[in-house]
Amino acid sequence: MTLNTVGRPTRMEEGVSAASEYLHPTLTGARGLLQDEPLIFELGGWEKTGVDLPDCDASQSDDLGDLVRTARIGLPGLSEPETLRHYVRLSQKNHAIDLALYPLGSCTMKHNPRLNEKMARLPGFADIHPLQPESTVQGALSLMDRLAHWLKTLTGMPAVALSPKAGAHGELCGLLAIRAAHEAKGDARKTVLVPMSAHGTNPATAAFVGYQVVEIAQTDDGRVDLADLEAKLHDDVAAVMVTNPNTCGLFERDIIEIARLTHAVGAYFYCDGANFNAIVGRVRPGDLGVDAMHINLHKTFSTPHGGGGPGAGPVVLSAALAPFAPTPWIVSTGEGGFDLIEEAKADAAQTFGRMCAFHGQMGMFVRAYAYMRSHGADGLRQVAHDAVLNANYIKASLKDLMTQPFPDGPCMHEALFDDAWLDGTGVTTLDFAKAMIDEGFHPMTMYFPLVVHGAMLIEPTETESRAELDRFITAVRALATAAKAGDAERFKAAPFHAPLRRLDETQAARKPRLRWTPQAA
Ligand SMILES: *Cc1c(COP(=O)(O)O)cnc(C)c1O
Repeated sequence: MTLNTVGRPTRMEEGVSAASEYLHPTLTGARGLLQDEPLIFELGGWEKTGVDLPDCDASQSDDLGDLVRTARIGLPGLSEPETLRHYVRLSQKNHAIDLALYPLGSCTMKHNPRLNEKMARLPGFADIHPLQPESTVQGALSLMDRLAHWLKTLTGMPAVALSPKAGAHGELCGLLAIRAAHEAKGDARKTVLVPMSAHGTNPATAAFVGYQVVEIAQTDDGRVDLADLEAKLHDDVAAVMVTNPNTCGLFERDIIEIARLTHAVGAYFYCDGANFNAIVGRVRPGDLGVDAMHINLHKTFSTPHGGGGPGAGPVVLSAALAPFAPTPWIVSTGEGGFDLIEEAKADAAQTFGRMCAFHGQMGMFVRAYAYMRSHGADGLRQVAHDAVLNANYIKASLKDLMTQPFPDGPCMHEALFDDAWLDGTGVTTLDFAKAMIDEGFHPMTMYFPLVVHGAMLIEPTETESRAELDRFITAVRALATAAKAGDAERFKAAPFHAPLRRLDETQAARKPRLRWTPQAA
C-alpha cells in the first residue's frame, strides 16, 4: 500500500470506484459544504437594502436639479450577512495559492508574504491620490526610486520605466522605445523576429506596434536555432524578442551570441523577462547584451495575481534606449526629496510619451519592494536557486512515468512534459488536467508552449516545501498510473468534484458572455 504524505492510504487504494460514486448527484446541486451560488443580481431584490436610511424628505428632492434619478439604479439589494456569504461562497469556488500548490507553468504562482500586504495597506501608500501635491507624497516617490534602484541593480541596466501595468504592457513599452530609437535615426524598420516557442504576447505586441512578425525556428534541444536566426537577420529587423529562460523552461545557452548577432545588423535585443525568477541574483541581463526587458513584479517578486488581477511590468532599458523611456520618471532633487517628471523637458524630448494616465501600480510597487527588502540580495539569489531546485525535483520524480520533450540535462524553474506517454490510453492532456482538479490541485499549464505536443508545463516556484511537492507528486503519479492502467473513465468526464464540470471552452473563448442580462419577466 502506498501512503500519501500525511500517512493515510490514498483514496484510490481504499477501493473507491471512480465514476459510479462520483456521479451520484446531490438533491440541491450543492457539493458537500460547497453551496450552489446564483449571481448577486439573481439573489438581491430591488426592494431590499443592507442599511437603514432615513426616510427621504420629498421637499429636498430637487436639490440636484437635472441630476435627480428618474429610474431604478439597478443594483441588487442584500443584507450584510447575505452579501458576505455570497462572496465567501464565490471565493470557495476558486482555487487559490493559499489553498494548495498552483503549478501553472510560466505564471509563477508563488506565496504572497502577508508582510507585503501589511506594507501596501499603510495609509501613506494606500490612501494617497495620484493628483496630490508632490510635497505630500515624498515617501511614495522615495519608495519608487528605491524600487527602481533595485531593479536596475538586479538586471545590470541603467534605466527603468516603472509605469507599465503588466508583462504584455511592458513588452509594448519596450517595443515603443525601440521604434522611437530607430525613428530617431531615420531608420524605420519593419520586422521583429520571435522564436516559435514564445509566449503569445510577444508576437501580439510586435503586431500591435505595426511590425511584421517573423518566426525563428527551434533546435531539437528546445533553444533558438542560431543558423535560422542568422539567416533571417537583416537591416530591416527592428528587434529580436527572446524569452530567457525560455518557455520550455530552458536557459538559452547562446544568449550572448544572439545579442551580438542582433546588434550587428543594428537591431535591438528585447528579452521577455517574465521568467526572471529563475535567474534573479545569478545573471544580470545587462551583462548578456539585452536592450529592453520587462519584469513581471507579480511573478518574480510575488504580489497576488491571476484572473487578470493587478500586475506591474516595469521595463529596464539599456543606455541606447534609455533616452526614449516613457514619462513619468522620478528625479532626486538633491536635498533628499524627489520630483515626478510628468512632461518631458526639452533635454529629454526623445521620450515616446506615456504608457498610462499616472505612474503605475503603487500597491504592487510596495509589495515588490517589501519582498526585495525582506529577502535581501542573498535571499533573492536563494529564490532563484530554490525555484530551479524544486522544478528539477518534479522533473526527476515524474520522469519514469511521463515523457519529456527535452529530457537531457536540468531544467530551470519549470518542468515540461509532453503527451507521448498517454498514447493508447484514450486520455488527453486536457482530461489529465481535469482529473487533477478532483485531486485538489490546480492543473498545470496545458498545450503551451505550442511547439510541444500535448504540453504540460509545471512550475512549482520556490515557496513550496518538500512535503507539499511530495503531496503533488503523489497525486500526479497516482493519476498517471491510473491512466496507464486503462482507467480512462476517471479522466474522460472529470472533474467530478468541482462546482462545474466540463465547460464549453470553445464557446467561452469565441462568444464570451461577459454581462448578465435580466430575464424578461
Ligand atoms: C506571464 C508572461 C507574459 C505576460 O505577462 P502579463 O503580466 O500576463 O501580461 C509574457 N511572457 C511570458 C513568458 C510570461 O510568462
